[in-house]
Amino acid sequence: MASFAVSVIVIEGLRKDWVLMKKIVILTGAGISAESGLDTFRDAGGVWAQVRPEDVATPEAFARNPGIVHDFYNARRIQAARAAPNPAHRALAQLQAVWPYPVVIVTQNVDGLHEAGGARDVLHMHGILAGALCATCNHRWPAPSTMAVTDACPNCGGQTCRPDIVWFGEIPYDMGLIFGHLATADLFVSIGTSGQVYPAAAFVQEASAAGANTLELNLEESAVSHEFDETRSGKASDLVPLWVAEVLDTLVAAGSVQPA
Ligand SMILES: [Zn+2]
Repeated sequence: MASFAVSVIVIEGLRKDWVLMKKIVILTGAGISAESGLDTFRDAGGVWAQVRPEDVATPEAFARNPGIVHDFYNARRIQAARAAPNPAHRALAQLQAVWPYPVVIVTQNVDGLHEAGGARDVLHMHGILAGALCATCNHRWPAPSTMAVTDACPNCGGQTCRPDIVWFGEIPYDMGLIFGHLATADLFVSIGTSGQVYPAAAFVQEASAAGANTLELNLEESAVSHEFDETRSGKASDLVPLWVAEVLDTLVAAGSVQPA
């Protein structure tokens, strides 16, 4: 692989006996989907460099001009539906399938690429493009590829259907569940996230405080890299399959599974 480049920064030193780290909690961000061709949000040239979030990603923007908000998310939904999962998504699904203990995947991404790559029970803390939400009765259902202002809620009939996306100023989904997982994690891994968006940026501190080992896999140093036991820099599609292979190899060495 010509573009292959991985550097490892060990902050305190991560314990490498992976097999002793039973429960793994993984947080993913835009960096894992960028290699599937989906735009990131906060980078130079990312979505928020082209569109102001306050025009399309707040409840106020939706109340003011729902048509513009639907246009923005319809375009993103179509782009996401055309994207294919990359080796990083597939490696995490493999880890989840083979690892004999819980592997919890929490994502900030609103695409469905983890599921398309074979992952199960993914916690979409910022919602999902494939979902619709009624602003009147909070009913949630699968979104059509194109949503319109005139859509009616299948539950209450109200014409206040919005993308099931957590907007600025709103509380992310499943926070109680996620913090519960962080409190019982043996290993917390952050993949492709800038560490600029809270509460996700605080997950590493939460997991560390609960005694978990912490590993960051990111294209470059993030805003919270110093919080991790170990940081590896490179493309997610290189780093994630390598790390998953490393973890599963220890399992083979320990005799827990047969090599494929
Ligand atoms: Zn409704």
